[in-house]
Amino acid sequence: MPFYPFRGGFLEVIVGPMFSGKSEELIRRATRALIAKQRVQVFKPALDTRYDDLHDGVAVASHNGRTLAALAVGDVEALRGRLEAETQVVAIDEAQFFPQELVSLATDMADSGKRVIVAGLDLDFRGEPFGPVPELLARAESVTKLTAICVRCGAAATRTQRLIGGHPAHYDDPVILVGAAESYEPRCRACHAVPRKERATPLFREAV
Ligand code: ADP
Ligand code: ZN
Repeated sequence: MPFYPFRGGFLEVIVGPMFSGKSEELIRRATRALIAKQRVQVFKPALDTRYDDLHDGVAVASHNGRTLAALAVGDVEALRGRLEAETQVVAIDEAQFFPQELVSLATDMADSGKRVIVAGLDLDFRGEPFGPVPELLARAESVTKLTAICVRCGAAATRTQRLIGGHPAHYDDPVILVGAAESYEPRCRACHAVPRKERATPLFREAV
């Protein structure tokens, strides 16, 4: 959990696999800021169109049904363009779908005195760092890494398993495939499967 002795603006990042409660936590923090009568703007990438019709505009939605009105933006420049000078708190969900320029925008916003809350997947379905999120983690004042429940074994899930037709997606299947017959579920490291993933160097030397 973040604490707030920071002077001026700061960056807080919420990560974890799907279903770990990132949107829930982003909504919780933004709602508390609204209760404190702060000026809050909530953004998400236009690419993610789940539950879009719930509000007049669009909404950030969590899997347990909570929603918060948000603005969907096509890219980082659009986000920059919609930012209002009086805004004190900027919340951005699904950050992994933004390009790398999100890092400089988030940094600029924090430098200019805003509280910036960013939520997103830290790892893609292959278990590899996802888009601008790793650098955001490095630059953040506060990092919250959430876990879900592994649907296979009940342990803490840190990965997102991608399934295509019920089978684990291959390593070289494209990361973003909107609208395809695929599904995602949270799994732990041991249950996470990525067929055809090659280890660069063997972990142990072959016995001779
Ligand atoms: P995220 O934004 O990380 O995808 P959400 O905030 O949308 O997560 O959803 C979190 C909610 O998902 C939990 O509060 C819980 O109600 C629900 N959920 C469904 N399946 C799981 C699971 N396997 N592990 C944890 N939470 C789950
Ligand atoms: Zn497991």
